[in-house]
Parts: sequence; structure tokens; C-alpha cells
Amino acid sequence: MRFKVFIKNYTALTIGGGAEGRTDISLNDLIIPPSSIKGSMRTAINKFLPQNYTSCGKIRPEEITEKHKELGKPCDVCLLFGYPKSRDIGCFTINIVTDLEKLDKVSFTRVAIDDKTQKAVEGGLFSQEAISPESEVVIEVNFRDSCRERMLKLLLYSLSALRLWRLGRNAMIDLKIENICEKYKCDEEMKKIVTNLENYLW
Ligand SMILES: [Zn+2]
Repeated sequence: MRFKVFIKNYTALTIGGGAEGRTDISLNDLIIPPSSIKGSMRTAINKFLPQNYTSCGKIRPEEITEKHKELGKPCDVCLLFGYPKSRDIGCFTINIVTDLEKLDKVSFTRVAIDDKTQKAVEGGLFSQEAISPESEVVIEVNFRDSCRERMLKLLLYSLSALRLWRLGRNAMIDLKIENICEKYKCDEEMKKIVTNLENYLW
């Protein structure tokens, strides 16, 4: 199933980048790579994991493998988001729907500081673009139905958790989703999660 997620940022939004001067990176990659959104969701759900779900809480591939061996199976968070050495890339993908080129941007000029000397690096002045506060970015989540409803719920819980966490470089965001219960059959728990996500929180 597919559904749309609307993300509103309260502070300037930058996620990717750090590669100033390169022009061969699309703005999508520079500002919002889908993998970064997934990464932030994953971090957020580990902070606010619902009781009946498991997470190995590991990041390094060897530790994940080790922990899953202990558990006797992959943890729920890894099943949803994917994990190393798995043929499975997780239960969902994300596309950016909004044409980011058309959003208002702010440009920051920064000075690169040398870690050792704490002085400005010669020629270290660079500018970086970010999406202006109060913008709305629409993304589309494609959920693999074979992952079943329990995983879909964990995905929605991850979106809820993301509201309380940060996206990218400390951007404060809010988000809402389209009402999937109008299109799909939802049980009581699902209705509750969807209702909670139907409007912006802040
Ligand atoms: Zn795991």
C-alpha cells in the first residue's frame, strides 16, 4: 500500500550535503535523501519503542548479527527498516513527491573551522542551502503488503516517534499522514494510530 506523509519543518531543514562546491548532486539528495528520513525514523522508534515490539538497538553489522542470533530471529525494527546481510531491504521505501526546487530556500554562509587550531580554514567559506522554515514537503511511503499489518503499525509508530525527535541536522518538524483507514480496513489499534497522525501535532 502507498500513502502520503506531509512534513512541516519549523526550523531550516538540511539533511544531506556537506559537499559544497559539487554541482552533480541533485537538490533532493542534498536536502532530503529518503535514506536519511528512514534513518531518523529508525533512531526515533528506538527511543519510543512500543511495548510489544523488539529492537536489537544495534548499528554495527556484526553486533546486529550477534544480537539476532541471541534473539533467535531478526528484531522487529530490523525487519521493518532492513539490516545488513539480509536479502530483505525492509518493508518500505520512500519517495519525495514535492519538487524541492520550488520551495523557498534560505542560504547560510558558514566558515569551516580547523579542529586543531580552532581558526578559520583558508578558503573555508562556504554556503549551504536549506529549506525555509514553515515549508511542507510531501513524501510517499510504499509499504510492502507481505510485511503484514503488525509491521505497518510499527511504521506508523515510527512516524509518530519522529514528531518527537529530529530530522536531519536538528530540524524540528511535524508531520501528518493521509487517512489510510478511508481506503483500507483498520482495526481499533490502527484507527487510533491513524487518528493520532491525521493532523499536525504542534
Ligand atoms: Zn535488529
